[in-house]
Amino acid sequence: MKPANLRRAAAVAVLLAALTAAAFSLRSRTGVARPRRFDKNVTAMGTFVTVSVFTDDQAAAEEAVDAAIDTIKRLERLLSRFNPESDVSRVNDAAAGEPVSVQRETLEVLDLARLVSRQSGGAFDVTVGPLVVLWREAGESGTLPTPEAIAAARSKVSWKDVLIDAEAGTVTRAREGISIDLSAIAKGYVAAAALGDLRAAGMESGFVNAGGDIAFLSVNPDGSPWRVGVADPRDDTRTLRVLHVRDAAVVTSGDYEQFSTIDGKRYSHIIDPRTGNALEGGGPVSVTVVSQSAALADAWATALSVLGEDGLGAAREAGVECLLLYLDGEEIRTVESPGFADLTPPLGQRTTHRGE
Ligand code: AMP
Ligand code: MG
Repeated sequence: MKPANLRRAAAVAVLLAALTAAAFSLRSRTGVARPRRFDKNVTAMGTFVTVSVFTDDQAAAEEAVDAAIDTIKRLERLLSRFNPESDVSRVNDAAAGEPVSVQRETLEVLDLARLVSRQSGGAFDVTVGPLVVLWREAGESGTLPTPEAIAAARSKVSWKDVLIDAEAGTVTRAREGISIDLSAIAKGYVAAAALGDLRAAGMESGFVNAGGDIAFLSVNPDGSPWRVGVADPRDDTRTLRVLHVRDAAVVTSGDYEQFSTIDGKRYSHIIDPRTGNALEGGGPVSVTVVSQSAALADAWATALSVLGEDGLGAAREAGVECLLLYLDGEEIRTVESPGFADLTPPLGQRTTHRGE
């Protein structure tokens, strides 16, 4: 498998061009004003974020999209551990046991993270930072970490040691060494928040795409569901599955876009916090999750990358739908939640050329 294929293996894309053309011809035939697409991009959370709305009111579109972009920037300032003034940095820098006042959104995302940690049996854990650093350094030096170094980092990973007091509006690290890294949930959370701005501004159709984590508002302007293509991991010019979604988010994880190579073996940027090991094959090459909550979809895509098909029961209890792709040589094996079939169109439309 060429690295380029693996890198694109998880890619999901909104299949738009055909949709908008269909919408336009429908509207023009019926004589109703044509909805137009308005986009704005911003770089945030280390990725490219696009906010798109479909409307015939340009002024309203610009106002809505600007509000969404402001929200994305504001939340990035709160949630990024690279900004020393963010809520996350202030919590990480405070002494253990000292409650730190944070914004409502920070409490909310930590609360959702805690829920997924509990439901996934610890496969998802926002305190995984020390292990992420250890494996990143191992990748840079080309030497596997020692069992002792893994054990030492693991002792600093414990989601239960992040204490949330919703009433007081505070977060407390229960002991030294514990730190928060929201990389695996923040993109989804922020996409959903930005989508909330579009809705509040009266937009009826649109989406926010945060580096492939996509939150959708309602349906296409022509009333049809959004269509999202999941790339074939063997041939990224082809779409393996097309999902039909309404008012939902689609998030993919485990694409090995970020990985280290040690002794010729690839290690994912996703860690199994239960063992302290970086994922290294055998598991799904990609996990796509659909949920009404983009934050939950993001967190579960990461959790299911760790759990593989063993996590299907937990995902079902959490109410998210998922598609896991495995590569057995050149063969693709798909594992999906029972409700996932409802998201796919009838046979015959399933394999579609990308970029249609
Ligand atoms: P994602 O791309 O959403 O799967 O998030 C992956 C990022 O989240 C990594 O780059 C790490 O910073 C962090 N991370 C790695 N493993 C985990 C895990 N098991 N639980 C939560 N966050 C993780
Ligand atoms: Mg994630």
